[in-house]
Amino acid sequence: MTTLTNLLDFDPAQLVAYCAGLGEKPFRAKQLQRWIHQFGAADFDSMTDLAKSLRDKLKTRAEIRSPSVISDNTSTDGTRKWLVDVGNGNAVETVFIPEENRGTLCISTQAGCAVNCRFCSTGKQGFNRNLTVSEIIGQLWMAEFELRRTKGIEPGPKGERQITNVVMMGMGEPLLNFEPTVTALKLMLDDNAYGLSRRRVTLSTSGVVPMMDKLSQEVPVALAVSLHASNDALRDGLVPLNKKYPLRDLMAACKRYLAFAPRDFITFEYCMLDGVNDTDEHARELLALVNDPVLGVSCKFNLIPFNPFPESGLLRSKNPRIKGFAQVLMDGGLVTTIRKTRGDDIDAACGQLAGEVQDRTRVQERMEKMDEYKKKFGANFGRIVEIAS
Ligand code: SAH
Ligand code: SF4
Repeated sequence: MTTLTNLLDFDPAQLVAYCAGLGEKPFRAKQLQRWIHQFGAADFDSMTDLAKSLRDKLKTRAEIRSPSVISDNTSTDGTRKWLVDVGNGNAVETVFIPEENRGTLCISTQAGCAVNCRFCSTGKQGFNRNLTVSEIIGQLWMAEFELRRTKGIEPGPKGERQITNVVMMGMGEPLLNFEPTVTALKLMLDDNAYGLSRRRVTLSTSGVVPMMDKLSQEVPVALAVSLHASNDALRDGLVPLNKKYPLRDLMAACKRYLAFAPRDFITFEYCMLDGVNDTDEHARELLALVNDPVLGVSCKFNLIPFNPFPESGLLRSKNPRIKGFAQVLMDGGLVTTIRKTRGDDIDAACGQLAGEVQDRTRVQERMEKMDEYKKKFGANFGRIVEIAS
């Protein structure tokens, strides 16, 4: 049996090369790409402007296949979360967050993660494997056309686009799965695919310094950096990668990135951990760091209330403390937001429990565990409560 080539694995140039291999001109690749990424077509017979001979050729050699969906839940606030099967009992999650003027999709790039941050349940799972291009872009492909089907919106450029922004903030460290991530990003930006502007695509990294430079040269999308600490001693304990790329190197990399970035600031993410990194002193140390004449960088802060899980031994900072911390940063002149959470009722807060779901058969186990945790830690376990600003 010959294995079919999954066309979702190709960036625009690779699709041209693939079509050339079939004796087809580049404009055919463009047509094919529009069918795939603008119309969500998976069936070659529906591609009516391609010659029948080409369609027949494609049918015997190629396919258009995104990873299959294990579960699909919509929250009362409209947040929709899919759990996506990536084989061998691994699942990753994709979350759609609708807002008034935009729709944001949060996608995953790895099953598990090797960075092993102390406060992250994905890290606690260990590293399973890198996702392929079709598994990464397949999350956007599946979600965009599934959302349109649900709302009865036609596919193609005439139908109203559902996903206007993408954030690579799901499971995994995107810069440690570099090539497939870059290929997926190129498709997101391509006018014959999703046509998103670089400002509307954000990659979040724990700070893989050499890859930040590489990204700035290949596809400089908006960058979010998971800082979580105001000094090296503290960050070493929270983000183990800091031992390899300490703050001095990370800040310098952020500065270099800004020269190529679509926005004139870096977003620093900061997970608020009770009694660990959340004092006014820490906030003042952060101000000094980002205003340092040598290390300093133009930035915004996004404070993320920690989403607790028992094995972490950590607690979320209390809301007044988060506000107090934000106030110190704002008084120091930094634009600071506190992340609101959405989809609490379907655990879409931040990938918290997906790590518990290693395969379909464990969904029941997960629900039981959730009940057990709720008994142990209170009804709010696993939720981030929205903080009014
Ligand atoms: N690996 C990348 C992107 C995925 S994590 C990174 O670390 O940036 C996306 C964001 O969620 C990161 O800022 C991460 O630190 C944060 N995060 C992870 N676990 C969390 C938790 N339990 N509560 C709150 N935020 C968390
Ligand atoms: Fe990996 Fe990001 Fe989790 Fe750290 S926070 S373990 S880098 S997914």
